Amino acid sequence: MKKYEKPEKIETYWFETYGCQMNIAESNALKTMLEGVGIVEAADEEKADIVIINTCSVRKSAENRVWGRLGNYSRIKKEHPMILIVIGCMAERLLNELQKDAPWVDYVLGTNDKQKVIEIATGVESIDRDDAYSFLQSYYKEGDFSTFVPIMNGCNNFCTYCIVPYVRGREVSRSVESILEEVKFLDSKNVKEITLLGQNVNSYNYIDEYGNQFNFPKLLEKVCDVANNIQWIRFESPHPKDFSDELIQVIKNQEKVAKHLHIPLQSGNSRILKKMNRSYDREKYLTLIEKIRKEIPNITFATDVMVGFPSETEEEYLDTLSAMEILRCNEAYMYFWNPREGTPATKMDGQLSDKIKHERLQKIIDRQQEIFGEEKEKYANGIHTVLVTKESRNDKKQMLARDEHNQMVAFSANEELSPGTLVKVEYLSVNGNTIIGRQI
Ligand code: SF4
Repeated sequence: MKKYEKPEKIETYWFETYGCQMNIAESNALKTMLEGVGIVEAADEEKADIVIINTCSVRKSAENRVWGRLGNYSRIKKEHPMILIVIGCMAERLLNELQKDAPWVDYVLGTNDKQKVIEIATGVESIDRDDAYSFLQSYYKEGDFSTFVPIMNGCNNFCTYCIVPYVRGREVSRSVESILEEVKFLDSKNVKEITLLGQNVNSYNYIDEYGNQFNFPKLLEKVCDVANNIQWIRFESPHPKDFSDELIQVIKNQEKVAKHLHIPLQSGNSRILKKMNRSYDREKYLTLIEKIRKEIPNITFATDVMVGFPSETEEEYLDTLSAMEILRCNEAYMYFWNPREGTPATKMDGQLSDKIKHERLQKIIDRQQEIFGEEKEKYANGIHTVLVTKESRNDKKQMLARDEHNQMVAFSANEELSPGTLVKVEYLSVNGNTIIGRQI
């Protein structure tokens, strides 16, 4: 059997990224840092001197996919010398298993240790574990017109179905100074849209060296103050329990904050929310939505819902359906509960059959598809600013774009437009999930 060899020199890298927006942002930052030391992206994984797999543990399927990829790299490594590094949540959760069952992986680095990729790539091999999470200097990738800005990491909430607090650790907030520096830099790069990122973004809390405290609304105002070319400021994912009146006022008063909010519901039933340890009930959630709508009438919503949580009855499931009728989102991430090893919900009584979970999910998806269409019809008129994302493959004057409400828009352009351009489009009709329009 051939031995795994390491390359003599590291000149090329290859990244595989799984999971959330935070992983995408962190991979972008590491790519930029590797390029900063002269290591360029390889044509494909088989030609790379160093391969980094940035992993996710939220679902079992995401971990299974990585195990599959590791099998593939075992083969590639026999033919081609390379350094293989596994980083991220799965590396944090399954450090020992990865070291034992995939010995051809050279380094396994948990969520606090991602920066060590650069040390390894540049020949420094001391890999003591870091105790604390640290933010990278910039998460920008050259050419991006829409980018993520991580502002906090970790979560203190321990929802009973979620693995994140166990793999990302407790909440830590990035300094205001570092965030504003990055936003100014992105603005100078003509970035049009930024998303402030955190597992529980609106629990941001930073105290500077002079004892000044910055909560999320204060930070958001400061970010708006330094954004000139940036058209829309978004944030992901807020927790309903931390959605304060002060935050609603900032969203209302700051023109640059997109009037589209992703506020995870998870369940529309108070007993299930309690079992999920979500810290709000149905009434509190719907009161929050009503309050936001009253203050900001042109607001649109996105949400996450999970059906089939242990012991959820048909009536309780119908509460989720009825909450969705009130919420009337134009985007929704709908899924059924799947046991996640290491979380309390896995051991709860009243596990439902796959058949019931599938049926409940399908019903909510079907109804939600109708709501999407109905909501889009309401918006399919007037003139709106859109951000061009792609051109049609067949016709350079047919463009795809997104608007402030994160709605997909297809329009005929008057000229050739490159992705990242902001233009005015008249909305004419709706086709499926897409608004159809023409450039003004
Ligand atoms: S708030 Fe709940 S669902 Fe969100 S990351 Fe924290 S524990 Fe997970």
